[in-house]
Amino acid sequence: MPRYEYRCRTCDDTFELSRPMAESSAPAACPGGHDDTVKLLSAVAVGGSRSAAPAAAQGGGGGGGGCCGGGCCG
Ligand SMILES: [Zn+2]
Repeated sequence: MPRYEYRCRTCDDTFELSRPMAESSAPAACPGGHDDTVKLLSAVAVGGSRSAAPAAAQGGGGGGGGCCGGGCCG
């Protein structure tokens, strides 16, 4: 479940919540009980991670990469 970061405009505190994506924009009360919160754009890049995952998987596999095989590595 993705984690989202919120900031409370009442006490200026930031906090994280783990919630379904469907509820990412739903109101979130801060630990202090305030409802005046805004969702921050945190490091959790749901859309970007999808394209980055395959590259990481290939690196973990090792060998057979197009780069070294093609001679661009020297
Ligand atoms: Zn608060």
